Amino acid sequence: MLQAFRERFGSAAGLRIFRAPGRVNLIGEHTDYNLGFVLPVALDLACYVGASPSGDGRIRVWSENRRELREWPAAEIAQLRPSGDWSDYVVGVAQELIRAGIPIQPRNLMVRSAVPEGAGLSSSAALEVSCARALLEDRAVDPLELAQWCRHAEGTFVGMPCGIMDQYVSVFGREGAAIRIDCRSLEHEAVTLPPGVVFLAVNSMAKHALANSAYKERTRECAEAAERLGVASLRDASAERLETAHLPDPLGRRARHVVTENARVEQFVAACREGDVPRMGRLFLESHASLRDDYEVSCAELDFLVETAAGLPGVHGARMTGGGFGGCTVNLLRPDAADEFAGRISSAYQGRFGVIPRIYSCRPANGAEEITNFESIPAPG
Ligand code: ADP
Ligand code: MG
Repeated sequence: MLQAFRERFGSAAGLRIFRAPGRVNLIGEHTDYNLGFVLPVALDLACYVGASPSGDGRIRVWSENRRELREWPAAEIAQLRPSGDWSDYVVGVAQELIRAGIPIQPRNLMVRSAVPEGAGLSSSAALEVSCARALLEDRAVDPLELAQWCRHAEGTFVGMPCGIMDQYVSVFGREGAAIRIDCRSLEHEAVTLPPGVVFLAVNSMAKHALANSAYKERTRECAEAAERLGVASLRDASAERLETAHLPDPLGRRARHVVTENARVEQFVAACREGDVPRMGRLFLESHASLRDDYEVSCAELDFLVETAAGLPGVHGARMTGGGFGGCTVNLLRPDAADEFAGRISSAYQGRFGVIPRIYSCRPANGAEEITNFESIPAPG
């Protein structure tokens, strides 16, 4: 990346590189904005941002992935309006820092991300958090605030209202562990994953246009369900209360998903601690069924991937992960079954949809950090 930086900007003097991971959510889907529980892991797939002083008062951002450059006078960053493209994530984060009283220095930035865009592995949070860290340099900030600035940037400047999960785990991820986040108290605990399992994400390569509008619609439906139930958020609704309330359809099913999914997070954490892998797998399948039938955010591609996975040897369970309507499934399996799984799910999916799915190994990694060994940064592409 040092060489690429020098070629792009002419100089790499004072170059520092920061990394922030993508994530896969193991369980707890669409619970974050209902102030419930989620259990993501930070991935070793990450976004790397190199930064060095530009020396001319300007901020430049080159995305290697997009092969696009954006630049502005550093003094004008605070006044910029959203442009509707990827640079909004960067400018949005810079504006949050400025609002927090942190001056933004003129920098050349180079973005190289190994997190696939729009696959539900949170390339957006990886981009936000890595840029924020690069712009902060040595300034120590409260890591929770850092996550909140990034989330706020995405919700307001980018215009994609989202829960706190993605940015949170990109900051707080821990090698070898999943992070159980209480999205109300914003506290977390690391949950060590049992030995003898691996997680693979399978990218359906589908991106249905419905995703954004449905996300906003579900947010509204959940707020309305909570109001009718007389609770501050669905986090506070009990299964009993839900049953006696007889909410009209689809509000009843939406709320049931959130209530049962929160319970599944707790059960999954307990199963992790007990090393009860078959139970972890069953909870994956139950979560998927709930997202498909009650929350209605799955699609034919994801359902096919989950059903196919469930019938393959060494697979304990599978479910869609992320917002839905495309993106990835997450699969829990025996390590020795991984190769056969990859081959078989790939050919089955290709046979049905004519598309080769991409498969990622989900190794739980640390959250955002500065990279001192530049050799460890993956090559582009
Ligand atoms: P996800 O977070 O699941 O990958 P999002 O739609 O939330 O999907 O975020 C994807 C968007 O983030 C892209 O459309 C792009 O605007 C931005 N993005 C992510 N990574 C990069 C990158 N390396 N270079 C430029 N833009 C990026
Ligand atoms: Mg995202």
